[in-house]
Amino acid sequence: MKRRRHAEVAGGGFAGLTVAAALAQRGWTVRIHERSDEVRAFGAGIWIWENGVRVLASIGASDEAFRNCPPATEFLNWDSRGRHVHCAKFPVEPTPGAARLFCVTRQQLLMAIYNAAIRAGVEVVTRSHVVRASSHGELETASGQRFRADLVVGADGVNSKVRDSLGLLKRRRRHADGAIRVLVPHLPGYPDSWPDRVLREWWSGRRRLLYTPCDREVFYLCLTAPVSDVEGAQVPLNRESWARSFPHLTSLIHRIGSENRYDVFETTTLYSWSAGRVAIVGDAAHSMVPGLGQGCGTALVNALSLAVFVHEAEDIAEALRAWETARRPLTEHTQFWSAIAWPKTRWPVAAVRLFYNLPGWERWMTAQRLRPAVTVPHGTEDDAPWVPADASAPLTGTERRVARREPIRR
Ligand SMILES: Cc1cc2nc3c(=O)[nH]c(=O)nc-3n(C[C@H](O)[C@H](O)[C@H](O)COP(=O)(O)OP(=O)(O)OC[C@H]3O[C@@H](n4cnc5c(N)ncnc54)[C@H](O)[C@@H]3O)c2cc1C
Repeated sequence: MKRRRHAEVAGGGFAGLTVAAALAQRGWTVRIHERSDEVRAFGAGIWIWENGVRVLASIGASDEAFRNCPPATEFLNWDSRGRHVHCAKFPVEPTPGAARLFCVTRQQLLMAIYNAAIRAGVEVVTRSHVVRASSHGELETASGQRFRADLVVGADGVNSKVRDSLGLLKRRRRHADGAIRVLVPHLPGYPDSWPDRVLREWWSGRRRLLYTPCDREVFYLCLTAPVSDVEGAQVPLNRESWARSFPHLTSLIHRIGSENRYDVFETTTLYSWSAGRVAIVGDAAHSMVPGLGQGCGTALVNALSLAVFVHEAEDIAEALRAWETARRPLTEHTQFWSAIAWPKTRWPVAAVRLFYNLPGWERWMTAQRLRPAVTVPHGTEDDAPWVPADASAPLTGTERRVARREPIRR
């Protein structure tokens, strides 16, 4: 009988859980080492585009991940003088060449992937802090324990110990901006108006405030400010300072809790995504500015693809090189366009409008930005697009017009 192959995974985040679930579903035994005392995500929301949806569907996590979270219909944004800057519309049904966008809480998304991994038989060891790996397939934890495997995966985030112990990091760039992300409970009575599927963003100087409805209970706010903006980057959130920037949102800003963190955006580039039997995936390999909302989506796509490449390979090291050759070009395209697409808050509004709407350029730029979202992930080519269980519910008039790409009447 053929021996079951075994993987040791560092990191129980989006990438680690996805590769673990996908390998276990293909007959591998898998153990995840998570340094925290439980698998959990911090309190914020996340955008997941069509590519991520396809991966989640393929590991059996999409129904749970998007329960009570219908797709977004459009994105609107205004400058500090209330002038309309940019608008984007999204399909609500699977549409060739276009991408749906779902917005959920990180915890709901992570638990959906975690449950898929557990159902597939993955073992999760918490409070297990990985300190290094070796290319012949060994993982070592802070307690001195060593674990041998056919495949070791470093999915331990942007500060990856696995990656650094193998000297794979080529460049780690800290950007000028960062963000405070929070979930805020809706006011009583909000469910009456659910579903709210419009994403809204306001600009003021170099600060931005993004509103994303997630579900009936909470919405997600992302408050972006440069590192050099001492009050803007301050935690706990400096509510007075932010309310001065967005006076019309004062009551909303004052509802934000005081347990906040400010994360500086980083872009990482590696010499190689693998060394021998060790693969690096997710933010550990390719973190990016959240300009396209594709950091996690890319992690999910590359994690599933990794499992597909190694699944029946005779030579793991060779399969990992083939995986990188297949996946790296689109990943670097995504990192590049995430930075290019970063909102031009310092430009005059006329220039920003031109940037988003100049005929010809707009079409080409939109295609570049959407390429990661509309590219069918490796391993899902034969799958029908996932649709929510309640998709048979009749569409509203607005949704029908968005689906048909007709103008919305206001
Ligand atoms: C402001 C902001 C907004 C974003 N918005 C979006 C968005 O809307 N859509 C999107 O797709 N992406 C978004 N991203 C990017 C997204 O958050 C990341 O790409 C994603 O979290 C990467 O997942 P990961 O599993 O690789 O890493 P992580 O989520 O960082 O998970 C790593 C896991 O490894 C564990 N770990 C770390 N070190 C060790 C160790 N030594 N031993 C054991 N375990 C360890 C950690 O505890 C954690 O559980 C955003 C990022 C930022 C900064």
